[in-house]
Amino acid sequence: MSAQWQEQVSLKPYNTFGIDVRARYFTEAHNDDEVRQALADARQHDVPVLVIGGGSNLLLTADVQALVLRMASRGLRILADDGRRVIVEAEAGEPWHPFVQWSLAQGLAGLENLSLIPGTVGAAPMQNIGAYGVEIKDVFVGLTALDRETGELHDFDLEGCQFAYRDSLFKQHPGRWLILRVRFALSRVMQAHLDYGPVRQRLSEQGISQPTAQNVSDAICSIRREKLPDPVELGNAGSFFKNPVVAAVLADKIRLQYPGLVAYPQADGQMKLAAGWLIEQAGWKGHREGDAGVHRLQSLVLVNYGQATGLQLHQLAQKIQADILERFGVRLEMEPNLY
Ligand SMILES: Cc1cc2nc3c(=O)[nH]c(=O)nc-3n(C[C@H](O)[C@H](O)[C@H](O)COP(=O)(O)OP(=O)(O)OC[C@H]3O[C@@H](n4cnc5c(N)ncnc54)[C@H](O)[C@@H]3O)c2cc1C
Repeated sequence: MSAQWQEQVSLKPYNTFGIDVRARYFTEAHNDDEVRQALADARQHDVPVLVIGGGSNLLLTADVQALVLRMASRGLRILADDGRRVIVEAEAGEPWHPFVQWSLAQGLAGLENLSLIPGTVGAAPMQNIGAYGVEIKDVFVGLTALDRETGELHDFDLEGCQFAYRDSLFKQHPGRWLILRVRFALSRVMQAHLDYGPVRQRLSEQGISQPTAQNVSDAICSIRREKLPDPVELGNAGSFFKNPVVAAVLADKIRLQYPGLVAYPQADGQMKLAAGWLIEQAGWKGHREGDAGVHRLQSLVLVNYGQATGLQLHQLAQKIQADILERFGVRLEMEPNLY
């Protein structure tokens, strides 16, 4: 085996659910050469590879019989600046929220609504991370990824990534593309997105009517801290289910029985339902089975109270999915990546 690899490493510190499974082998890559070396060594020894970033979107249900390759590359740079529009590039291993803070400190707007999302830059395109009315596709210009099948580098533009709601080409082809660095178009002039959730209200409570990007970021951080459990204190992976998009006739049918249904019309005539609302109506909020549970304030967030296994959390998720299907005729899709 490669001298760089550690054996039988607990992944508890490397996933925000805090699940204590082991990686058969574990290593970190700080640059492209180390990525290539790790992949070549793994190929030589016929060992599969699981690439991770911050482990904030993983549900690990068993020991990982693979090389876990943690992206630890760092680097933030400005590639172009015409005085208004600024192209920045970040290495995959850069932690997301500090990257957002760095961009704000440069006087650049565009990422403020995505403040305080855990994880790394390299994983952000995987599910086109989004929050408070903004997704990374809105500020994305390109990324460089390594094709693990051919070993070649490939530059993707916005269209090539096939971004959709919590989805992308990379999520559709798990294990094929290793994202090395990502480029964003930010702006010296903020285009505020304040109409999602209580953002505008929070700012006006603070007496701010002409917010800067930093003000918006601060408001969103304070809202998120109130709303979402901190994984350091209570293991979780954020929203556990995607908001389902259903036919309008199904939404109408549910509304007959549940007049308070939370539903947002989509461009194609379908309706996006709030998964958390469905789960709460079905009585799962605060439900606990051993150390696996549904958060007492946030029905969309499954939590590990300490010793839950990934399997227990997955079983709980499956019970919720079956119940929501039976009650509402709606299929809930898991957001975290299951291994
Ligand atoms: C408290 C909390 C709040 C959250 N809030 C949000 C939110 O508001 N919006 C949102 O969209 N998400 C949210 N998430 C989910 C999560 O933060 C994001 O999905 C994040 O982008 C995951 O990054 P990561 O580095 O932790 O990825 P990991 O969990 O390490 O990996 C996720 C997937 O990406 C793959 N991957 C990782 N790095 C690479 C790479 N460089 N190249 C190729 N594949 C890679 C992994 O194999 C895995 O399949 C939240 C999570 C938590 C815990």
